[in-house]
Amino acid sequence: MTMNREPLEKGADMQDNPEGKSYQRYLELGGIINEQDYNDALLRLKIAQDNYEMPDKNHIGQVRMMADVAGIGLLMRTETDPRVILYSILRSDIRPKDVEHHHSQMSDWRLFAEVLRMLEDMDAFNKLKTFHHTNRRLGTYCPLCGKTEYSKDCI
Ligand SMILES: [Zn+2]
Repeated sequence: MTMNREPLEKGADMQDNPEGKSYQRYLELGGIINEQDYNDALLRLKIAQDNYEMPDKNHIGQVRMMADVAGIGLLMRTETDPRVILYSILRSDIRPKDVEHHHSQMSDWRLFAEVLRMLEDMDAFNKLKTFHHTNRRLGTYCPLCGKTEYSKDCI
Protein backbone atom coordinates (compact mmCIF):
# COMPACT_ATOMS: atom_id res chain seq x y z
CA MET A 1 0.00 0.00 0.00
CA THR A 2 1.23 3.45 -0.80
CA MET A 3 -0.85 5.48 1.58
CA ASN A 4 0.39 7.94 4.12
CA ARG A 5 1.14 6.45 7.44
CA GLU A 6 1.47 9.27 9.85
CA PRO A 7 2.57 8.25 13.29
CA LEU A 8 -0.49 8.68 15.48
CA GLU A 9 -0.80 8.92 19.20
CA LYS A 10 -3.05 6.05 20.05
CA GLY A 11 -5.48 6.18 22.92
CA ALA A 12 -6.34 3.06 24.87
CA ASP A 13 -9.55 2.67 22.90
CA MET A 14 -7.90 2.94 19.50
CA GLN A 15 -6.83 -0.49 18.49
CA ASP A 16 -4.69 -0.82 15.44
CA ASN A 17 -5.43 -3.33 12.74
CA PRO A 18 -2.92 -4.84 10.32
CA GLU A 19 -3.39 -2.04 7.78
CA GLY A 20 -2.66 0.63 10.36
CA LYS A 21 -6.14 2.07 10.02
CA SER A 22 -8.48 2.89 12.82
CA TYR A 23 -12.17 2.15 13.15
CA GLN A 24 -12.56 5.57 14.71
CA ARG A 25 -11.36 7.20 11.51
CA TYR A 26 -13.62 4.98 9.42
CA LEU A 27 -16.63 6.12 11.45
CA GLU A 28 -15.59 9.75 11.07
CA LEU A 29 -15.61 9.20 7.31
CA GLY A 30 -19.22 8.02 7.61
CA GLY A 31 -18.65 4.25 7.45
CA ILE A 32 -21.50 1.98 8.53
CA ILE A 33 -19.94 -1.47 8.83
CA ASN A 34 -19.63 -2.66 12.44
CA GLU A 35 -16.26 -2.81 14.18
CA GLN A 36 -15.92 -6.56 14.25
CA ASP A 37 -16.64 -6.98 10.54
CA TYR A 38 -14.36 -4.03 9.78
CA ASN A 39 -11.38 -5.48 11.68
CA ASP A 40 -12.09 -8.93 10.35
CA ALA A 41 -12.17 -7.70 6.74
CA LEU A 42 -8.89 -5.79 7.03
CA LEU A 43 -7.25 -8.83 8.61
CA ARG A 44 -8.47 -11.00 5.73
CA LEU A 45 -7.13 -8.41 3.29
CA LYS A 46 -3.70 -8.69 4.91
CA ILE A 47 -3.78 -12.49 4.77
CA ALA A 48 -4.89 -12.44 1.13
CA GLN A 49 -2.07 -10.04 0.24
CA ASP A 50 0.53 -12.05 2.16
CA ASN A 51 -0.53 -15.21 0.35
CA TYR A 52 -0.94 -13.59 -3.08
CA GLU A 53 -4.53 -14.81 -3.20
CA MET A 54 -6.33 -14.04 -6.43
CA PRO A 55 -9.67 -12.24 -6.05
CA ASP A 56 -12.76 -13.68 -7.73
CA LYS A 57 -12.78 -12.89 -11.47
CA ASN A 58 -16.34 -11.57 -11.43
CA HIS A 59 -15.49 -9.28 -8.54
CA ILE A 60 -12.44 -7.96 -10.38
CA GLY A 61 -14.69 -7.24 -13.35
CA GLN A 62 -17.24 -5.45 -11.18
CA VAL A 63 -14.66 -3.15 -9.60
CA ARG A 64 -13.04 -2.47 -12.97
CA MET A 65 -16.37 -1.42 -14.41
CA MET A 66 -17.23 0.82 -11.45
CA ALA A 67 -13.78 2.40 -11.34
CA ASP A 68 -13.87 3.05 -15.10
CA VAL A 69 -17.26 4.70 -15.02
CA ALA A 70 -16.37 6.92 -12.05
CA GLY A 71 -12.89 7.77 -13.34
CA ILE A 72 -11.01 6.02 -10.55
CA GLY A 73 -7.58 4.69 -11.47
CA LEU A 74 -6.78 1.16 -10.32
CA LEU A 75 -3.37 -0.46 -10.17
CA MET A 76 -2.17 -1.81 -13.50
CA ARG A 77 -2.32 -5.33 -12.12
CA THR A 78 -5.92 -5.01 -11.02
CA GLU A 79 -5.91 -8.26 -9.06
CA THR A 80 -3.29 -6.86 -6.68
CA ASP A 81 -5.16 -3.61 -5.98
CA PRO A 82 -6.18 -3.63 -2.28
CA ARG A 83 -9.51 -2.02 -3.22
CA VAL A 84 -10.26 -4.95 -5.51
CA ILE A 85 -9.16 -7.56 -2.98
CA LEU A 86 -11.14 -6.01 -0.12
CA TYR A 87 -14.21 -5.62 -2.32
CA SER A 88 -14.00 -9.28 -3.29
CA ILE A 89 -13.62 -10.34 0.35
CA LEU A 90 -16.72 -8.41 1.42
CA ARG A 91 -18.77 -9.31 -1.67
CA SER A 92 -18.15 -13.01 -0.93
CA ASP A 93 -19.58 -12.74 2.58
CA ILE A 94 -23.04 -14.01 3.32
CA ARG A 95 -25.35 -12.66 5.99
CA PRO A 96 -25.33 -14.65 9.25
CA LYS A 97 -28.81 -15.84 10.27
CA ASP A 98 -28.97 -13.78 13.46
CA VAL A 99 -27.91 -10.48 11.87
CA GLU A 100 -30.52 -8.14 10.43
CA HIS A 101 -28.34 -5.61 8.61
CA HIS A 102 -25.27 -6.89 6.85
CA HIS A 103 -22.96 -5.64 4.13
CA SER A 104 -24.00 -8.55 1.91
CA GLN A 105 -27.26 -6.67 1.37
CA MET A 106 -25.50 -3.61 -0.05
CA SER A 107 -25.48 -2.93 -3.78
CA ASP A 108 -22.14 -3.27 -5.57
CA TRP A 109 -21.77 0.51 -5.70
CA ARG A 110 -22.56 0.95 -2.04
CA LEU A 111 -20.15 -1.80 -1.02
CA PHE A 112 -17.38 -0.30 -3.18
CA ALA A 113 -17.95 3.06 -1.47
CA GLU A 114 -17.58 1.33 1.90
CA VAL A 115 -14.32 -0.32 0.74
CA LEU A 116 -12.91 3.08 -0.24
CA ARG A 117 -13.79 4.44 3.20
CA MET A 118 -12.19 1.48 4.93
CA LEU A 119 -8.98 2.05 2.99
CA GLU A 120 -9.33 5.80 3.55
CA ASP A 121 -9.12 6.45 -0.17
CA MET A 122 -11.19 9.61 -0.06
CA ASP A 123 -10.04 10.77 -3.46
CA ALA A 124 -11.68 7.76 -5.09
CA PHE A 125 -14.63 7.95 -2.72
CA ASN A 126 -15.32 11.54 -3.71
CA LYS A 127 -15.10 10.66 -7.39
CA LEU A 128 -17.72 7.99 -6.85
CA LYS A 129 -19.97 10.42 -5.04
CA THR A 130 -19.50 13.18 -7.60
CA PHE A 131 -20.30 10.84 -10.45
CA HIS A 132 -23.36 9.22 -8.90
CA HIS A 133 -24.80 11.93 -6.74
CA THR A 134 -23.60 15.45 -7.43
CA ASN A 135 -23.32 15.24 -11.22
CA ARG A 136 -26.24 12.95 -11.96
CA ARG A 137 -29.04 14.14 -14.22
CA LEU A 138 -32.00 15.70 -12.49
CA GLY A 139 -34.50 13.14 -11.30
CA THR A 140 -32.20 10.16 -11.68
CA TYR A 141 -31.46 7.71 -8.92
CA CYS A 142 -28.24 7.70 -6.90
CA PRO A 143 -27.20 4.09 -6.16
CA LEU A 144 -25.15 5.21 -3.16
CA CYS A 145 -27.84 6.89 -1.05
CA GLY A 146 -30.93 5.78 -2.94
CA LYS A 147 -32.27 9.30 -3.41
CA THR A 148 -33.88 10.59 -6.57
CA GLU A 149 -34.69 14.15 -5.55
CA TYR A 150 -31.93 16.72 -5.45
CA SER A 151 -30.17 17.06 -2.12
CA LYS A 152 -26.65 17.87 -1.01
CA ASP A 153 -26.58 14.88 1.31
CA CYS A 154 -25.34 11.58 0.05
CA ILE A 155 -23.70 8.77 2.00
ZN1 LIG B 1 -26.40 9.91 -3.26
